[in-house]
Amino acid sequence: MTRKSTPPGIMNLSSRGRAPVSELAIAAPLPRDVSVSFEFFPPDSEKASEVLWSSIQRLAPLNPSYVSVTYGAGGTTRERTHNTVSRIRNETRLAPAAHLTCVGASRDEVDAVARQYWDAGVHHIVALRGDPPKGTDRYQPQKDGYAYAADLVAGLKRVADFQISVAAYPEAHPEAPSAAIDLDNLKRKIDAGATEAITQFFFNIDTYLRFLDRARAAGITVPIVPGILPVTNFRRVAEFSARCGAEIPTWMADLFAGLDDEPEARKLVAASLAAEQCRALSANGVNQFHFYTMNRADLCFAICHMLGVRPEPATKAA
Ligand SMILES: Cc1cc2nc3c(=O)[nH]c(=O)nc-3n(C[C@H](O)[C@H](O)[C@H](O)COP(=O)(O)OP(=O)(O)OC[C@H]3O[C@@H](n4cnc5c(N)ncnc54)[C@H](O)[C@@H]3O)c2cc1C
Repeated sequence: MTRKSTPPGIMNLSSRGRAPVSELAIAAPLPRDVSVSFEFFPPDSEKASEVLWSSIQRLAPLNPSYVSVTYGAGGTTRERTHNTVSRIRNETRLAPAAHLTCVGASRDEVDAVARQYWDAGVHHIVALRGDPPKGTDRYQPQKDGYAYAADLVAGLKRVADFQISVAAYPEAHPEAPSAAIDLDNLKRKIDAGATEAITQFFFNIDTYLRFLDRARAAGITVPIVPGILPVTNFRRVAEFSARCGAEIPTWMADLFAGLDDEPEARKLVAASLAAEQCRALSANGVNQFHFYTMNRADLCFAICHMLGVRPEPATKAA
């Protein structure tokens, strides 16, 4: 019997004519070189404090490169941020990073807070302009304050040789006249002494990868770490995204549609979405991730697991 040669193009079809399923990002070998950082916000009650500390203890064995603590809009959490950062520094082996903003304080006040951090052994600051305080919708630099994040970075560097992270916006900051002007601003922050940028959250990985290409072309060489937000409350994230200019793709709205009263199902969807996002980024060479934990550990722990980031048996939180 003579064998017929298979026409090109249909060699991989099944007997039913089905094309092979392309490789899933999640099926690739586990990455081995991933490092992660976690962001928390300072608690405002005893109960919230318990949730935060149990989350920190759960995530600590993943050996994050640092954990950061946010600074409330308008500088409203100055004490609480400071206390949380100090407690992390004094009671765990984690490296804390303190967020600091320009809002609601003079340059002298900001410098004093920074000096206090430095003297307490906290040498990493996430330097931000900050959002306008509640009740005002337009940012107004304070007369005797740092006007923008680039000014704050320069000021912090005058105080001490801090490691400084700054914010980056793959979809451009909502107040920026153009993406190019916003990228110039990021460059100014790096040139002033920042050593890393952390991005606003995003859901289209292409958006981030293109932004990375533009940043590299603009001569920005520091790590631009993707900020990953596991979405447990889709409604709230959709509202916030509209304000901060992060696009919610239609496919994502479809994934969460009908789950408003299904918190457990939402969690599963959120974990699988963020894990897929991270694995796809990893397949594109990204090996640093910053997680907006919302003070909850379970989703971040699972996503890190799927990124090959596993607990170090000898590492303890406290
Ligand atoms: C990773 C991350 C962490 C954050 N943590 C906090 C936090 O803890 N607390 C908090 O309150 N907020 C936080 N934010 C939100 C942040 O404060 C807001 O997004 C804020 O609106 C911009 O801060 P920025 O540091 O990016 O500002 P900047 O880099 O100063 O830029 C802000 C805007 O001003 C423009 N601009 C810059 N310089 C000038 C200039 N000289 N003249 C005119 N326009 C200028 C920029 O293009 C941009 O549109 C965080 C954001 C991110 C991404």
